[in-house]
Amino acid sequence: MNLHEYQGKEILSSFGVNIQRGIVATTADEAVEAAKKLTEETGTGWHVIKAQVHAGGRGKGGGVKLAKNLKEVKEIADNIIGMNLVTPQTTKEGKKVNQVLITEDVYYPGDNEPDEYYMSVLLDRAQGKNMIMYSPEGGMDIETVAEKTPDKIFTEVIDPATGILPFQARKIAFNLGLSGKAFKEMCKFVTSLYKAYEGSDSSLFEINPVLKTSDDKIMAVDSKVTLDDSALFRHKDYEAMRDIREEDAAEVEAKKAGLSYVNLDGNVGCMVNGAGLAMATMDLIKQAGGEPANFLDVGGTADAKRVEEAFRLILKDEKVEAILINIFGGIVRCDRVAEGVVEAYKNLGDQIKVPIIVRLQGTNADLAKEIIDNSGLNVESAVLFKEAADKVHEVLS
Ligand code: GDP
Ligand code: MN
Repeated sequence: MNLHEYQGKEILSSFGVNIQRGIVATTADEAVEAAKKLTEETGTGWHVIKAQVHAGGRGKGGGVKLAKNLKEVKEIADNIIGMNLVTPQTTKEGKKVNQVLITEDVYYPGDNEPDEYYMSVLLDRAQGKNMIMYSPEGGMDIETVAEKTPDKIFTEVIDPATGILPFQARKIAFNLGLSGKAFKEMCKFVTSLYKAYEGSDSSLFEINPVLKTSDDKIMAVDSKVTLDDSALFRHKDYEAMRDIREEDAAEVEAKKAGLSYVNLDGNVGCMVNGAGLAMATMDLIKQAGGEPANFLDVGGTADAKRVEEAFRLILKDEKVEAILINIFGGIVRCDRVAEGVVEAYKNLGDQIKVPIIVRLQGTNADLAKEIIDNSGLNVESAVLFKEAADKVHEVLS
């Protein structure tokens, strides 16, 4: 689950990470109130208006703007709220901005080369450890730094058993070229950032930029957080931060129905039980000359209700030209699934306009094939994997 910048900053702050202060607003008037409050609290005269959407590169798309007085705060907030923000990380339709974060301006006026760093904490799956990735080249997008000047990217592997050790924090501050007060501040910053990552059960905490202010404070100006969904049950307060407006509508619906569904770009919808078989099925579709339109795992109990929900999801996708149902009957009996498919088909009848290939293998597979073949519906059955692939190829060509 991804968070908005302001939510990530709330978590950071709760773990003692120094952040650029801000208040969220959903209207231009609220934005002005927020700006006034920030002036009272921090003494800042200038504010930054930042679009809150689940996408980076907002600055480049016009979603981050500096306001030098309250009139500008109002104008800019009015422009940004409700706009469709297009950034290098969104689709060309962009993302609708529902809220903005009003922050204190923390940059030194006239400083054209502020000291901005990149820092992220993430899970290094290959090593089974956590990793801090950092660079003195912050502010710009890290992929470009990685491509053009890979020597400017450093990594520090953190053993989850010990957490970040003081010498590691010092090494990071040193590699970022810091000394004196800023050095000490950076050690504190990276230590509490690691604690925030660990304590929130995140799989990614990315801060770009981390800023060294003109008075040598280190603070998070941006935040990108991905929480580990499997650990959300331990964090009810973070779970409440979910903003489903930012998520794929079909994926939200799938979640409600207990299905694992990921929307993809291809033309063959798939309905499969088990994640491994779903992956193999996607490979199979590619081999047959198609492209999977989705990943869909209906889980162990592929009953009529789930099959129907799965059908509904796939049929919403206009790119789908064929549907491949690939179920292995281990615990679930194939004949039950076949009955489910027939029943779901009857319920959805006129909505189904694309060919369907069903491959059922395992317990009572022969019986299942009979049920499909005798149903009189426009459904092709197959018993073997290869057979199913050939049929997909046939209907696509
Ligand atoms: P992103 O473009 O989505 O990554 O959004 P960021 O939060 O990183 O903001 C984009 C850029 O806005 C930053 O790299 C900064 O250069 C600039 N920015 C952010 N906060 C301030 C601020 O307080 N003052 C000024 N002058 N610029 C800021
Ligand atoms: Mn950023």
